[in-house]
Amino acid sequence: MNPDIRNDATALKGRSGQMDIDRIKADFPILKQPVNGHRLVYLDNAATSQKPKQVIDAIVKYYNESNANIHRGLHTLAEKATSAYENVRVHAARFIGGVDNSEVIFTSGTTESINTIARTWGEKNIRSGDEIVITEMEHHANLVPWLVLSQNTGATLRRISLTPDGQLDLTNINDIITARTRLVAVAHMSNVLGTINPVADIAELAHRRGAIVLVDGAQAAPHMPVDIKQTGADFYAFSAHKMLGPTGVGVLWGRKTLLEDIPPFTTGGEMIREVRFDRVTWNDVPHKFEAGTPNIAGVIAFDRALSYLEELGMENIRSHEIELSGYAINRLLELDGIEIQGPLDPHLRGGAISFTDAKIHPHDISTFLDSRGIAIRAGHHCAQPLMRTMGKVATARASLYIYNDRMDIDALIDALKETRRYFGV
Ligand code: PLP
Repeated sequence: MNPDIRNDATALKGRSGQMDIDRIKADFPILKQPVNGHRLVYLDNAATSQKPKQVIDAIVKYYNESNANIHRGLHTLAEKATSAYENVRVHAARFIGGVDNSEVIFTSGTTESINTIARTWGEKNIRSGDEIVITEMEHHANLVPWLVLSQNTGATLRRISLTPDGQLDLTNINDIITARTRLVAVAHMSNVLGTINPVADIAELAHRRGAIVLVDGAQAAPHMPVDIKQTGADFYAFSAHKMLGPTGVGVLWGRKTLLEDIPPFTTGGEMIREVRFDRVTWNDVPHKFEAGTPNIAGVIAFDRALSYLEELGMENIRSHEIELSGYAINRLLELDGIEIQGPLDPHLRGGAISFTDAKIHPHDISTFLDSRGIAIRAGHHCAQPLMRTMGKVATARASLYIYNDRMDIDALIDALKETRRYFGV
């Protein structure tokens, strides 16, 4: 590991070994700018995280010093870029629990990762009469591809419903995951409810029924230690931009035997072994799934994001978010008329905290908070079916990350009180 990174990040942990939030904040240039005349309080991390200067610098350094296309040139820059890119594959494989490097595919994000499986494994394996199981809390990225696949093949889309406090209701799971089930697609952590799902238990049952399991890790990978082998997943997807990395980079992990068995999604340059006018053979995995020129700068800068998170320690990040979510939930519940969606126990959930006010629309809350420099998200959070299930048109959502602290939560609560005064509630 680069000693600069180690020195930097060691300082990110205070003397007690806890994360030093002030030092972390100082690494994020964007947090220094005032917004609407106020200190920026960024609480929209479930949508995308901010980037530390180490990641931003890595993008600039790549373009200044190594820019070249990868896997094709024999010149020095091409070799430099290729080896940096491939080293990130090794790093990403280590980050998710030490999987085989060739099982790590770079995509543009979770959405593309899931679509890749729906369009390849799905089209190859799903037939009329088969069943695909999702849950009622899925993001559209882990719902629409399966809906379209079931419509195109005549398969049935079934779903696991929710308990009143936003956990998966597994009481009748044996009636939902059956011998007809071919695939179970489930979020590891909900982007709306924050719920952490028991993916290993679900995977175990799915495997007993002969189904495979895709886990949407877009919200889990940034916020908690993820050991892919322990999740029981056959495919696991996540996005760099929610974990300090650049936009336009994602990871799709898949079991090698499955990846070798399925056709490519996108075809073209670099994913082939041999092309003639009348036939084509595919490259080995993972390259079979990486057609064309990828987001080279983004992948290379993602390396620094992974290092930053590792130096803090994913266990420490999880502990920080348990503590801060607990504080935020308690403070939100001090306010009359506020209802929190999802589990209230911070040990059962991550730091995406959705809430509604009995009297003020979430969009009005968000707009008012913005005038005080506080960024939250309001809307359906790409989970319209979940909103319908909950009987809401929208929710407000404050979502936490490594640079948030109690001061940020206090600012949120003060501004929410002000919002209520402003609207005469
Ligand atoms: N799945 C979940 C649970 C998400 O929260 C998101 C993004 O918010 C996605 C999938 C889609 O991720 P991306 O837009 O990076 O493809």
